[in-house]
Amino acid sequence: MFRKVLVANRGEISVRIIRACRELGIPTVAVYSEADANSLHVRLATDAYCIGPADSSKSYLSIPAIMSVAELAGVDAIHPGYGFLSERADFAAICEQHNIKFIGPSSQSMRKMGDKANARKTMIENDVPVIPGTGIVHDAKEVIKFAKKVKYPVILKATAGGGGKGMRVCRNDDEVATNLQLCQSEAEKSFGNPDVYCEKYLENPRHIEVQIIGDQYGNYIYLGERDCSVQRRHQKLIEETPSPAVDERTRRKMGEASIRAAKAVKYEGVGTCEFLLDSDGKWYFMEMNTRVQVEHCITEMISRVDIVRQQILVASGEKLQYKQKDINLQGHAIECRINAENPEKNFMPCPGTIEGYVQPGGFGVRVDSHVYPGYKIPPYYDSMIGKLICWGENRNQARRRMYQALKEYVVIGVETTIPFDLEVIEDEVFKTGDFNTSFLEDFYRRKENKK
Ligand code: ADP
Repeated sequence: MFRKVLVANRGEISVRIIRACRELGIPTVAVYSEADANSLHVRLATDAYCIGPADSSKSYLSIPAIMSVAELAGVDAIHPGYGFLSERADFAAICEQHNIKFIGPSSQSMRKMGDKANARKTMIENDVPVIPGTGIVHDAKEVIKFAKKVKYPVILKATAGGGGKGMRVCRNDDEVATNLQLCQSEAEKSFGNPDVYCEKYLENPRHIEVQIIGDQYGNYIYLGERDCSVQRRHQKLIEETPSPAVDERTRRKMGEASIRAAKAVKYEGVGTCEFLLDSDGKWYFMEMNTRVQVEHCITEMISRVDIVRQQILVASGEKLQYKQKDINLQGHAIECRINAENPEKNFMPCPGTIEGYVQPGGFGVRVDSHVYPGYKIPPYYDSMIGKLICWGENRNQARRRMYQALKEYVVIGVETTIPFDLEVIEDEVFKTGDFNTSFLEDFYRRKENKK
């Protein structure tokens, strides 16, 4: 087992990882920026080191700063969490060179899977259905030629993209040239890589993703799927598992396809294969996230597998503790991301001091958060306050429990997305479970019509 683990992240995911390490008896090292000195992860870790100013390019994204602490503190593993350096194959490679275990896949499998265009190639070679698409495109002509073949709309995507950024839909030839330029420059700015490729744009699919875990000995399991179709600007807001649209057979097929793909790149650790499911029940691979995801908790609730614990155990060289036949998914879980944003003002972030804070609890209710009364949400990072996760024996019970928990949740001092979540959870269409990624647009249209 590891001697000491450095957690190269902040916020709720750092707290989540530190808790898992504490349970395993592993000392932890937190790193923090000057803006995060009062953060909970700093207090919970065994040791903490300031790594630079608020600007994340000089702190949480600074490989030299993080590696210096790793050497100084004498850690033998680094957990990258999600975001920041978690999908940077160059960072994983540097850890490998320093004999520090990067808790995640090898830099080699990350290169094969982290880049969206490469991952598509791997999938095609392994008989996993992918959305019709191109390799990297250099000029508008290539996109127009592709669009002739598959018919508009098409979507331009940054190969290094993530978090809903670096994507543009084109509905005709005229839109291609401008969007291609915009997409390339956004990709360069946000991800330091201007490469863009093109896919057929599916109208109103569901977003379905499969959680997998693999060890260093070629053993793999999948833990069912998550439905993340409630999105705003391609960003997830509410997730649930199982998906109301996935039957047992599709679950198995998608799970097996995900494992085939993982095996092909000798993938190790936790990962998520993302798919789009169309209204005819056809599904297509979209991308693989080579890290733990924000929404992993709902899978934990229905599988009773502690995903972060397993991630650390397999990284340390242990064999996977489960076989596929041990996995017995039970009940239904829903997650609402609670953000310091104003849903009435186009989800504008509103950082500030949390003056009062009471979080909900009770059977089947889980809150993963790093905030406390008096905590100041810094303006420099994402605006997440926490994740509220509710489990129920079935979808309706989970939904009703979520409603009550949201009602109990008190956050004073900043605007939050709680009022928005309450409306969605009680929404007639949400209740039916029959919706897709256009849910939110439709939700606002219906709200407007009622006025
Ligand atoms: P990111 O890595 O930024 O999260 P993804 O590739 O996972 O980006 O896509 C995020 C969301 O964008 C999807 O859940 C879906 O709603 C939409 N999307 C992406 N590609 C397509 C496509 N080809 N057709 C329709 N919607 C798409």
